[in-house]
Amino acid sequence: MSNQPYRRASAGASIRRACRDPVHTVPIPTAMESVYPTEIRRQPETHTLRIIWSDGHEADYEYDYLRGYCPCAGCQGHGAHKVEFQAPESPVEPLTIRPVGNYAISFHWTDSHATGIYRFSLLRSICPCDSCRSERGEGT
Ligand SMILES: [Zn+2]
Ligand SMILES: [Zn+2]
Repeated sequence: MSNQPYRRASAGASIRRACRDPVHTVPIPTAMESVYPTEIRRQPETHTLRIIWSDGHEADYEYDYLRGYCPCAGCQGHGAHKVEFQAPESPVEPLTIRPVGNYAISFHWTDSHATGIYRFSLLRSICPCDSCRSERGEGT
């Protein structure tokens, strides 16, 4: 598999830069979902991804947390109706972050996994911030 860079428009160029810069904001194309990320920022020093939403909500997602929620059939099993956390075997980092249409993003992880399409609605539903966790009835 050749590693062709993502070529579409300026978002692709910014995302390629994000792979090299220690901290960079990934612009997201205008989304059709009601709530969507306006900023996705890699924070390598804390191994988190900061997501800022169109409604002003923001949270830091640990890389391993995102990897564990990979929604692809390989991780979740065929016929799974709900995305469940599957702890990665070892810590991962996103090598690249790519917009998918205007409804999702995908990651290429350091464990070479790259098939997960993370819909914005999924990302929001697993928001790790305290208030979202308590809304979901999870302890902190
Ligand atoms: Zn997966
Ligand atoms: Zn939240």
